[in-house]
Amino acid sequence: MDPINKLTEYFKEFPGIGERQAKRFVYFLLHKNPSYVKELGDKILDLKNTIHQCPSCFLFFQSKEDQLCDTCSNIKTDKTSLLIVEKDADYENIKRSKNYSGMYFILGGLVPIVSKDTPNYVRTKELLRNVELQAKEPASPTSQGGSGLKEVIIALSLNPQGEHTDMYLRELLTPLQDKFKLNIVSLGRGLSTGTELEYSDSETIKNALRNRA
Ligand SMILES: [Zn+2]
Repeated sequence: MDPINKLTEYFKEFPGIGERQAKRFVYFLLHKNPSYVKELGDKILDLKNTIHQCPSCFLFFQSKEDQLCDTCSNIKTDKTSLLIVEKDADYENIKRSKNYSGMYFILGGLVPIVSKDTPNYVRTKELLRNVELQAKEPASPTSQGGSGLKEVIIALSLNPQGEHTDMYLRELLTPLQDKFKLNIVSLGRGLSTGTELEYSDSETIKNALRNRA
């Protein structure tokens, strides 16, 4: 395969990018001067070298490997509440709205309605592990404990796939809910249909959190 088609194949893997757009990107690069292209290549490498995921909530941020993010490591974070979002952009939007002071968990995607298999980018195993760990009673000097988690808030966008994932997560969490008497609620009822959390304003998020059920 020649370099034009090869690079086109790479761009086609980007979300929402088809063959025609992918090819436009390639020709765009061909028209740019070499220093731009080199810098772009360096920036992409930088990204992989300097950005890592928080091992607890899975947020991407500038850090060393296995370093907890500011929210997870902050003693002021309300450890009794865990909010599940689909992606980093949702996390950032809710965080920015300053209406929520608890912990987060980034799921990594939504569960497809048609497929029976949960795709491996949806972090269900990690979610179960985190909830179990955090639901244990806070550590005492003599024993290792969790953080006394009491409430899990499922905060997914209000579209069919988001609602499907909401139901899926509720079922998945039922055994832990029973075991630790957790309160599991959804943001959905405070949002109007089709709402994307990523683009919701602070007032919408505040109302959704207030009306969680
Ligand atoms: Zn974190």
